[in-house]
Amino acid sequence: MTGNICVVGSINIDMVIRTPRFPATGETILGGPFMRHPGGKGANQAVAAHRCGASVRMLGCVGDDDDGRRMIEVLKSEGVDTSSVCALEDATTGVAQIIVEETGDNRIVVAPGANTRVGIKHLSVDAISSSQVLLAQLEIPIPTVLQAATIAAAANTRVVLNAAPAAPLPPELLDLVDVLVVNIVEAGTLSGRPESAPPRAMAGELGELGVGTVVITLGADGSFVWQDGYASYISAASVDAVDTVGAGDAFVGALAAALARGLELGKAVRLASAAGGLAVTREGAIPSLPRLDDVEKLAATLP
Ligand code: ADP
Repeated sequence: MTGNICVVGSINIDMVIRTPRFPATGETILGGPFMRHPGGKGANQAVAAHRCGASVRMLGCVGDDDDGRRMIEVLKSEGVDTSSVCALEDATTGVAQIIVEETGDNRIVVAPGANTRVGIKHLSVDAISSSQVLLAQLEIPIPTVLQAATIAAAANTRVVLNAAPAAPLPPELLDLVDVLVVNIVEAGTLSGRPESAPPRAMAGELGELGVGTVVITLGADGSFVWQDGYASYISAASVDAVDTVGAGDAFVGALAAALARGLELGKAVRLASAAGGLAVTREGAIPSLPRLDDVEKLAATLP
């Protein structure tokens, strides 16, 4: 059984350089080979959700340029419905400059380009209302995310928000979110607690702001789930990390796909945890996103 997901989010080209270590301020170092990959949290999560069995329609903008055309082709070839993605004549497709250290850690700067222009006019009420899940992130303007969530809430479409990259959110948006997914840095920003604070305290703070369910991802330490005051931990998979780019997107996409096909939260987070674990064993963002068969196999081995 599949579920329908509408993803409202960013579409980027990832420009990746591997390096033995991150340069210090003002320092230049020689890294490894240069690679271009399709990316953007919205596009990554759309593909992640489709590879995990969901039927996915993407809403967003690219530039009317080679990168934009390439991204639309990539999404189409992955089975994502791009009929509502707009190519803007006077904008460039978003670009993410990614540095990956030998340890697998990464640092990323995004030039958002056309993603900053995703507006209310680019939202399809029909696409959002006819989906089980609206999935959004914060690489497009927040008023657009708020409007998408408003449309979703009116249609009983579940709102899953991956509040990444970290940004303060209007309370009316948090009120509309059914499942908030954040990493520990984002949880700190949103809850106003230091990153060293226990996830339970952060989730409690976010719950006070009106979010029913909070999932905080903790890298190799797994994830923390808080639902209406009840807390639990889901383990991470035990894997050899090669490149953590894409782990969060694999997690969120797999979670949304599982929720869209009606799985309960605990099972959905286990699948998400396995998906995140598989993604760190492979390089890149979209190339590293796992498929449902592999995700289910690994999820079955989690404690
Ligand atoms: P982000 O990449 O958004 O910062 P995390 O680092 O928390 O998010 O990773 C997201 C999820 O991916 C984790 O909850 C976990 O399930 C999985 N994951 C990330 N890093 C590892 C790792 N080293 N080993 C196993 N699973 C991992």
